[in-house]
Amino acid sequence: MTLESTERLRVEQELRQALSEEAIRPFYQPLIHLGDGSVHGFEALARWRNHKGEFVPPSLFIDIAENAGLITELFDQLLRRACRDALTWPSSMVLAFNLSPTQLSDGLLGQRVVEILEETGLPPERLEIELTESAVVKEMNCAMRVIGDLRRIGIKIALDDFGTGFSSLSQLANIPFDKIKIDRSFVASFETNSKQMKIVRSIVGLGQGLGAATLAEGIELESQYKGLSLLGCEYGQGFLFAKAMPASEVAAFLASARSEWHLREPFRRTA
Ligand code: C2E
Ligand code: MG
Ligand code: MG
Repeated sequence: MTLESTERLRVEQELRQALSEEAIRPFYQPLIHLGDGSVHGFEALARWRNHKGEFVPPSLFIDIAENAGLITELFDQLLRRACRDALTWPSSMVLAFNLSPTQLSDGLLGQRVVEILEETGLPPERLEIELTESAVVKEMNCAMRVIGDLRRIGIKIALDDFGTGFSSLSQLANIPFDKIKIDRSFVASFETNSKQMKIVRSIVGLGQGLGAATLAEGIELESQYKGLSLLGCEYGQGFLFAKAMPASEVAAFLASARSEWHLREPFRRTA
């Protein structure tokens, strides 16, 4: 216990240092339009390489940043940089950005996001804020206020890790959102487990009924890509397409055959 808290304290000190040096950077994982294989945009994922040159997992340092009151500074720094990076991509591409659960209680969040958009010049329609389904359900009132503030500006909302957060249908009917991100646990199992497959099909149907797009997380196999596409899922992301990459590699990725899934068999459209 003592050891663990000493370790956390050490990471917290390193995190403060990293923030002052702006050493934590957004990396970008492509979001793919499954219908034609084109790149829809990128999700920004925080990456921190410590002084030893090792990557610290975001699940660890984001949790520590939340508890140490550093999440606002981290969010502002990463969002500002990510907006600037997104302006170098084709203008049709979206930037997806994760919001931490504790930020739902931040009454000034909307205002700060507006300031960052104005400062960087990224149109609000190109920004998609991801909130986990579990965070939204846990802090329903705060979530509704934050979502309302962000959507009024023109920002889109995605429900992340969907299917693991236990939202009820009545809650879903009340939350305004634009995209459902199907949790990767379903993607990993739907091909071999018919119940999981039916759940994926139902989530896609739910999205269609509620006017929200669906994106499948964690696509690692071509068979998953094909299966999800046949189930009507609109977008996908996963290691099959690419892992998160530094900003400097995005242009080369977009220019390379790796981003041209639509040219590959068996995804080439026959209709
Ligand atoms: P997330 O938002 O659901 O992000 C997707 C995670 O799944 C990323 O892990 C990504 O690297 C991983 N992933 C993507 N494709 C695949 C795949 O095909 N297979 C497998 N096994 N994994 C895949 P990462 O980067 O470690 O991030 C973990 C979580 O940390 C994120 O989950 C998000 O909740 C949080 N996170 C990351 N960056 C940020 C950030 O800047 N701000 C906040 N608040 N949270 C962040
Ligand atoms: Mg996410
Ligand atoms: Mg997710």
